[in-house]
Amino acid sequence: MSGEPQADCLFCKIVAGEIPATIVRETDTTVAFRDINPQAPTHVLVIPRVHYRDGAALAAGDPGAAADVLREAGEVASQEKVAESGYRVIFNSGPGAGQTVFHAHAHVLGGKDLQRLVV
Ligand code: C5P
Repeated sequence: MSGEPQADCLFCKIVAGEIPATIVRETDTTVAFRDINPQAPTHVLVIPRVHYRDGAALAAGDPGAAADVLREAGEVASQEKVAESGYRVIFNSGPGAGQTVFHAHAHVLGGKDLQRLVV
């Protein structure tokens, strides 16, 4: 649990503007930016400005921010014009699931057949 910015966190640095990212949407509580290694034509990460290690920790520690991330995932899908064709929202949780950045983030994926895609 946290909520406070972490000095060694890559995504806290993106929130602070210390590391560049291609930002597509911002709100008071969230930042959405293009994944640097996209797995689909649309691959955007939505992160809370507050630091929690994963989606479940975010929901427990700051339920409002968790809801904001999910709502923004939908807004990104609409903005990217993949909402109608279908899109996927993924929270990898833990190294065994492939999580590499331990600041909660939703992958928003769309723009191709997602039946077999795992990020
Ligand atoms: O779920 P996971 O932790 O693996 O996702 C982290 C994602 O962050 C990766 O898809 C990676 O490409 C992305 N990333 C990024 N910009 C960075 C560092 C990582 O978009 N500067």
